Amino acid sequence: MSKVVIKDCRDYRIDRLMETIEIGIDLLGGWNKFIAPGMTVLLKVNLIGPKPPDSAAVTHVEFVRALTRILKDHGCTVWIGDSSGGAIAGIAPTARSLKVSGLQEVADSEGALLKNFDKEGVIPVKSTIDTKPMYLAKPLFEADLVINLPKLKTHSASMYTGAVKNLYGCIPGLRKAEYHRLAPDQLALGQVLADIHAAVNVGLHVMDGITAMQGDGPTAGKPYRSEKILLSTDPLALDAVAASMIGLTVDDIPILVSARDRGLGEASLSQINIVGDYTAPPQLAGFKLPKRFTRLATGRGGHRLLAKIIELMKARPRISTRLCRSCNICVQSCPVQAIHPETKAINYAACIECMCCHEVCMYQAVKLRRDNPVMELIARLDPRMQS
Ligand code: SF4
Ligand code: SF4
Repeated sequence: MSKVVIKDCRDYRIDRLMETIEIGIDLLGGWNKFIAPGMTVLLKVNLIGPKPPDSAAVTHVEFVRALTRILKDHGCTVWIGDSSGGAIAGIAPTARSLKVSGLQEVADSEGALLKNFDKEGVIPVKSTIDTKPMYLAKPLFEADLVINLPKLKTHSASMYTGAVKNLYGCIPGLRKAEYHRLAPDQLALGQVLADIHAAVNVGLHVMDGITAMQGDGPTAGKPYRSEKILLSTDPLALDAVAASMIGLTVDDIPILVSARDRGLGEASLSQINIVGDYTAPPQLAGFKLPKRFTRLATGRGGHRLLAKIIELMKARPRISTRLCRSCNICVQSCPVQAIHPETKAINYAACIECMCCHEVCMYQAVKLRRDNPVMELIARLDPRMQS
């Protein structure tokens, strides 16, 4: 039976974080189960873009500091790595993200080594959606242990992002866009994620759910004080529990459906042993989902027929010319070149609704709107979508 630890943690105070993580690890069998002195441990953070810690878009810098200190106290060498999404002048913005997120400072002051996945070389692994191999960042295969540090967030394309989705950053640089093109729907994207999990031996998942992101995540939502840390060796079990905390089931989240189909872990709450401060997933009251989805289509007892109708009329990205600063990051990041570089008009015949444009825009100029006014009204009446 898979085990998920849920611990309360009020804030990012370093002593509180270290103590809470230590208790959580003890409940999973203790550090001796995972590490030994002299090992190299890679912390795979969520560094989606150049966002500061209080944006709730990235794994919080103090969360990473706490893990780094604990691992170094155990005699380990610590690497911190990821690859950001999007493109600035044709280059993934990972180096900038490392600075803005505070991770550069953590590495410098705590004696860890940064691994910018865009610059470390790649290893080919098997892809189920392509005849060619998929290339993943080399440090993932050089470390003795990989610890996944996802952030609890909503996602305007996949509805939720956590332990399973966080490994998408193992694909370096602009190749991420290529896999969005090859896997244009969320079930197919789930296959890509399952391939990554099959190739990378992640030993432990520790979720930063202290300040989560609600609403239009993964970058344009609003912080939500959920005050939780989740730990597990099973990424799907962790996500099933975290999704339940925000009122969703695995069936609501296609990438997790694919993960379940591929046997990535346990998806059924009745088969997950929840320990720590809770024996069942605590509910995060008032947590907002992305505007693009509606509560009527989700959760236990959701209306599947209505879900199908809404599926056909989901909100699509539109660029606000008023807010747009013409940086063209969205244009360069679009996997199917659907955004006009001058007018910023979107060619919906080409658009695969990956929401990368929404994710990478740092000025929140990419809005999600429904064409159908009735559906827009239904959505507005849903209190969980008014973020
Ligand atoms: S929508 Fe955002 S990312 Fe795209 S060009 Fe305008 S400001 Fe840049
Ligand atoms: S326009 Fe936006 S949502 Fe559509 S394919 Fe391009 S990046 Fe993805």
